[in-house]
Amino acid sequence: MILNAMDRIKKAEKFMEDYFTSLEETAYHNQLKVLQAFQNNRVREFHFHPSSGYGYDDAGREVLENIYAEVFQAEDAIVRSQIVSGTHAISACLFGLLEPGDSLLSVTGKPYDTLAGIISKAPGCLVSKGINYSEVPLDNAGKPDLQGIANSVNSGTTMVMIQRSRGYSLRSALNIDEIQQISRLVKEINPDTIIFADNCYGEFVEQHEPVEAGVDLAAGSLIKNPGGGLAASGGYIVGKSPLIEGISYYLTAPGLGKELGATLSSKRPFFQGLFMAPHIVLQSLKGAALMAYIFSEMGFEVYPNWNDRRGDIVQAVKFKNSREVIQVCQTVQQNSPVDSDVHLEYAELPGYADKVVMAAGTFVQGSSIELSCDAPMREPYCVYLQGGLTYEHCKYVVAQLIESVILNKGSI
Ligand SMILES: *Cc1c(COP(=O)(O)O)cnc(C)c1O
Repeated sequence: MILNAMDRIKKAEKFMEDYFTSLEETAYHNQLKVLQAFQNNRVREFHFHPSSGYGYDDAGREVLENIYAEVFQAEDAIVRSQIVSGTHAISACLFGLLEPGDSLLSVTGKPYDTLAGIISKAPGCLVSKGINYSEVPLDNAGKPDLQGIANSVNSGTTMVMIQRSRGYSLRSALNIDEIQQISRLVKEINPDTIIFADNCYGEFVEQHEPVEAGVDLAAGSLIKNPGGGLAASGGYIVGKSPLIEGISYYLTAPGLGKELGATLSSKRPFFQGLFMAPHIVLQSLKGAALMAYIFSEMGFEVYPNWNDRRGDIVQAVKFKNSREVIQVCQTVQQNSPVDSDVHLEYAELPGYADKVVMAAGTFVQGSSIELSCDAPMREPYCVYLQGGLTYEHCKYVVAQLIESVILNKGSI
C-alpha cells in the first residue's frame, strides 16, 4: 500500500516521539539559560534603542554582549551587526590573534569552504602574511583523529581550530564531548595553545557550548542559530577576555576596541532573536530529524540518521546527480514564504570554490536558520538542509518532497 505524504509523516512522528521529547528537553534547558542571562543583566526596553556616531556608552550593546558571554559561559563577547557573516567573525579571530611565524592547526580536517580563502587562497590570506597552516585529517570514520592530533600539536602550535558543524561534508558534526576530548588533549601537550571553535550551526543544539568544553574562543553567525531568525545580520565571538580584547583591536582599531561601534537600528531583534533561539533551533532540529527519517525510509542515504546525537542543525541527504539536487532545492524554494517563484541555478559565490545552488526563500537574505537548502556542485551529490522557523513549515516541505519522489517513482 502506498501511503500518502501526510500519512507517512504522521507515522514517522509517532515513531519519533521519544526523540522529539529529548530535543524538547534540551530546548527547555537552553531557554532557561538564556532567560536567566537576560534577568541577570537587567534588560530594559531602552537597551533596544539605536545608537549613533562613535557609539560610545551604548548600554544596550554592552548588555547584549554581556548576555552572550553569560549564555556561552565565556569571560567576554563581541556581538555586532557590523560583522558581515560567520566567515567574517571567524576571520577576525584568526587575523586578530595570529602573527607572522605563528602556527594554526585545523584538527577537524579541511575547514568549511569559505575558510579556505581566509587561510590560503585569497589575496591577503593568513599564509601570505607568514602564518603557518596545517591540518590533521579526520580518521576513516570521519571522526577527529586523536592520535594524529597528539602527534601534530607541539610547543610551536599557536592556535588549534575545531569546526563543530559538518559544513558541506558527510562527516558528522562534533558533539560537545568530542570537543572536550580534543581541548583536553591539546592543553595537556601545550597549555598555551589557543583553542578556537567554529561554532556555526552548533548553538543550542546541545545543553553545553564549546567554552564549557574547554575551548578558549568560539564564533558564529547571527543569521544562523543565535539570531533566532530575527537578527538581520551580524556575528558573535565569545571567549577569554585577553583574546576578545585582541580581536576587538583588529575589528575596530588598536586602542579603540569594543568601546566603539554604533548600532544604527533597533537592537530589539538581536535580544529577542537570542531569546527565541533555543526554540527556533528546536523547530529546525525536529524538521531535520523528520527529513532524515522520511528520506531514509524512501531509500536515500542521510547524514546524520534521524536519531543520531546531533552536534549541528544540518541534515544532509545524498542524491544521484546535480539534476536531482537542483530539484530538491527548487522544491524547498517553491514552498518558501519569500521568493517562492524564483527559478534556481548553480552559480559562483564569493568564497566558494565550486558553484553552489542555494534555496533560501527567507525573510533575511541567505539566512540559514530559516528553512534553506544548499549544495555545492560536486560529488557526492548531497543537499544540505538546515533551519526552519516553524516545524510546521518543515513538515509541509517534507510532504512536498515526498510527493515529488513518489511522482518520479523513487528518484527526485
Ligand atoms: C555557515 C558556516 C560558516 C560561515 O559562513 P557564512 O556564510 O560566512 O556565515 C563557517 N563555518 C561553518 C561550518 C558554517 O556552517
